[in-house]
Amino acid sequence: MAARTHEGNRAQAQHVSHCVVLGGGYAGVLAAIRLAGKARRRRLPIKVTLVNASPHFVERVRLHEVAAGRQHAPLSIAKSLEGTGVALRVGWVRHVDAAAKRLEIAHAGGEQSQLSYDALLFAPGSVAAPSRVAGSDEHAFNPANAEGAERLRQRLSAARSGERVVVVGGGLTALEIATEIAEARPELSVSLATRGEFGGDLSPRGRAYLQKTFEELRIDVHARVSAREVLADRLVLAPEASSAPLTSLPADIVILATGFRPSALAEISGLEICPDGRLVVDDTLRSPAHPAIWGAGDAVAVVGEDGSFLRMSCATAMPQGVHAADAMIATLAGEPAPQFGFSYVVRCMSLGRRRGLIQVVDRHDRPQDRVFTGGFAAWIKEQVCAYTLLSLRAERALSGVYRWPGQQRASSASAPSVGRGKRGVGGLDAVAVR
Ligand SMILES: Cc1cc2nc3c(=O)[nH]c(=O)nc-3n(C[C@H](O)[C@H](O)[C@H](O)COP(=O)(O)OP(=O)(O)OC[C@H]3O[C@@H](n4cnc5c(N)ncnc54)[C@H](O)[C@@H]3O)c2cc1C
Repeated sequence: MAARTHEGNRAQAQHVSHCVVLGGGYAGVLAAIRLAGKARRRRLPIKVTLVNASPHFVERVRLHEVAAGRQHAPLSIAKSLEGTGVALRVGWVRHVDAAAKRLEIAHAGGEQSQLSYDALLFAPGSVAAPSRVAGSDEHAFNPANAEGAERLRQRLSAARSGERVVVVGGGLTALEIATEIAEARPELSVSLATRGEFGGDLSPRGRAYLQKTFEELRIDVHARVSAREVLADRLVLAPEASSAPLTSLPADIVILATGFRPSALAEISGLEICPDGRLVVDDTLRSPAHPAIWGAGDAVAVVGEDGSFLRMSCATAMPQGVHAADAMIATLAGEPAPQFGFSYVVRCMSLGRRRGLIQVVDRHDRPQDRVFTGGFAAWIKEQVCAYTLLSLRAERALSGVYRWPGQQRASSASAPSVGRGKRGVGGLDAVAVR
């Protein structure tokens, strides 16, 4: 009896660390599950709370499908967390007080709350990059987030035969949106306007397949132009050759797919950020300036093996979430934190539902000659999208199971000195995405 009382007192005296994950996207939900699973397995006294703006998980990698009219059932974050012991708090984090280790949260109905943490995993993701194109706020659509995709879906569902859709952008998201709409709505006239060469970031074989697919789907391509102004019925373009006059394309629906910008929360909260607004982290994904904060996903500047920042993508966000969770656990257990390692393997693109393009890349993301195309590539891309959700279930069922290419190949680079300590955003240009 005396021994049991002693045991009880010891348990009471044991400090329970509160790990808070901010952001319930790909990085955050997986990180929360990993944290709770590892803490349970190692019997560490850790409590995990996930804070997200909405009770639903947004599958951003499918937002172009949503915009083109495909139905996807809403996914409950609470359901993904079932049995993990992770508490979910729904609300909008307005401020991270790094000195007091506290979040200030606004809830629906005007209620406010605070949440203290011992360790914070910062993963609020990204939003559409701000547009410098005049008239875009009034007339353009951007499916980078759920609200934007829904607005576009409603507009497209009301579009009549022959209406003209112009997608601005040449990255993977722009290519996916243009092809998705052209395939789902062949009665619309779809075109794409991009700076630089069309498919310029692909291998010659990848580019050739892209061109063939755009021809088959009857998507007009206007390359080497930049969008200047969106009007109610047209898009004004400036050709890249500076002496050439402005031109314009008739357009009923203009879609901007010109990149993402990290969440502004790090900047608003005065955290240490890079010039593009992403949180600075070291090679273990911990903030050097705010040692109780780790980061993962689109909101964080993670340096790859070649010294450049990793692309904003789901493919990099999930490994970062898991790594940051592992690094946090190691630190709380008094062990050295591992360095983050990551190798690129492929870039996966859906080009509508029936075609896809898988561009093989080297570990630094440079396109190689090899590509997979057609229905097989569309199938692979679909498996990749499904795998993101499967990973959440797998990690929940079997803690520690999530792995990724290059995991063991720890990066020797640390966060670059440029941008460190700069709290202002020196230029919110769209950063490399997907
Ligand atoms: C159309 C489209 C297609 C894409 N396809 C691919 C693809 O094929 N492959 C790929 O790798 N990537 C793809 N991406 C990119 C990918 O979706 C993002 O890079 C990825 O979602 C980043 O994950 P994350 O966890 O960092 O952030 P997010 O998924 O953006 O999640 C962040 C979460 O934090 C929440 N949040 C933000 N701020 C706050 C706050 N202040 N308070 C509370 N909660 C907050 C948000 O509501 C959200 O739930 C695509 C993106 C788009 C738009």
